[in-house]
Amino acid sequence: MKHELELFNKLAHKLFEAENTNPVTKPLPAVELFEQLDIKLHNQPDANFEETIEKLVLNTPRTATRLFFNQLFGGRNPKATLGDLLAVLLNNSMYTYKVAGPQVGVEKEILHNICEMIGYPETSDGTFAPGGSMSNFMAMVMARDAFKENIRTEGVQDKLIVYTSAESHYSIPKNAALMGVGREQVRYVATDAFGKMIPEALDILIKKDIEDGNHPFFVNATAGTTVLGAFDPIEPLSEICKKHSIWLHVDGAYCGSVIFSTTYKHLVKGLELSDSFSVNAHKMMGTPLTCSIIVTQHKKHLNNSFSNDAAYLYQTDGDDYNLGKTSIQCGRRNDALKFWTLWKSVGTIGLEKIVDQQFQLAEVALEYIKDHDDYTVYSFDKSISVCFNYKNIPAQHLCTALYEHAELMVGYGSFQENEFVRLVTINAGNSKEDILNFFTILERFVEENEEVFAELVSEEQQM
Ligand SMILES: *Cc1c(COP(=O)(O)O)cnc(C)c1O
Repeated sequence: MKHELELFNKLAHKLFEAENTNPVTKPLPAVELFEQLDIKLHNQPDANFEETIEKLVLNTPRTATRLFFNQLFGGRNPKATLGDLLAVLLNNSMYTYKVAGPQVGVEKEILHNICEMIGYPETSDGTFAPGGSMSNFMAMVMARDAFKENIRTEGVQDKLIVYTSAESHYSIPKNAALMGVGREQVRYVATDAFGKMIPEALDILIKKDIEDGNHPFFVNATAGTTVLGAFDPIEPLSEICKKHSIWLHVDGAYCGSVIFSTTYKHLVKGLELSDSFSVNAHKMMGTPLTCSIIVTQHKKHLNNSFSNDAAYLYQTDGDDYNLGKTSIQCGRRNDALKFWTLWKSVGTIGLEKIVDQQFQLAEVALEYIKDHDDYTVYSFDKSISVCFNYKNIPAQHLCTALYEHAELMVGYGSFQENEFVRLVTINAGNSKEDILNFFTILERFVEENEEVFAELVSEEQQM
């Protein structure tokens, strides 16, 4: 392994240098990929293996740089990266204490702390899932089994109904399909002008379904909607769920990490009233992908839905330390260690700073946009998604051109009838200057390509 570690170091240094000089890689057109890079596998060993690897690494999109604003993750937290490198090196599987040893404690400590922070009782527990979509899936399965225990053995027979906002993540209908509930049994609750679920609208839909003989069993509230970063109002939603005995899940994949900030945790006020809650540490906490946590008040349901006896696997120690008993997977990588190395090294106070920094960067961006007449703003205060258009240029064209010219990585989204650029200030390693630099690059790029964009704008206006 010594040689590979040296190679790793060499590649890492080349990558860091490249990230500094060219924060955005020139994209390889997908149709030319296999001509431009030696990716094809052959019968014989690659004689230029190291060169091939280096080329692959240096042509891969750079998600850790100060010009990557494309997704709901970004940056490279060194402490968390160290943890993930160690997890790979140790290569445990988290299903049993016998195989994972103290790493089980690492995972349990994170879960315990999160349950405590959000005010869940002693009866709570959780696990790590392979991503936010799968965390939502686990929540829906627990809700289904809590609704009727024998679904686990006999399958879904009733017409079960899911409620989620029109602005929620696409994994909700997808999970309904995977679970045998069906996409058509998902009701999309209307949102207000800020993209938050309207509780009264939820109540009306539930009552209608009950009248029709259907069975409402799951409400998904979102803490940070994927486009606008809006927070559904948990307290009134919980009241409605309690009234009708429906499981309330809070999908905090994007912004659930506000629980770490005294300044911003009010955005998830009432979270302790939810039945389950999920959060992606690979989003706001900046740990490497993936690091998704799902917790529930009802340890009983986590066990009921996910435990399975397996004599060949569970041979020592109690269920409390054999984490496979509450997991959706069998073999499972250690996603906890990277979050633990971060948390342990900076403390909860350090996690709070990461969250606060992202909101401060969003404020910098929002203020800049509001101060400059060429911009139209579409997002709201207290969101790390800053949505805007510049000089009425169609967002899709602008974002794609910026990417193709290797200027900036930024995406677009839409809310109601507007499409806009979505700048996500999720990389806490960025400074105020980095955010202002984003606008400088964007404006310079538009100026340099003025004619192209002017034509696009006039085409759009004629439509
Ligand atoms: C990102 C996101 C998800 C999905 O998480 P993955 O880890 O990408 O599967 C779910 N819900 C919301 C609100 C998200 O932003």
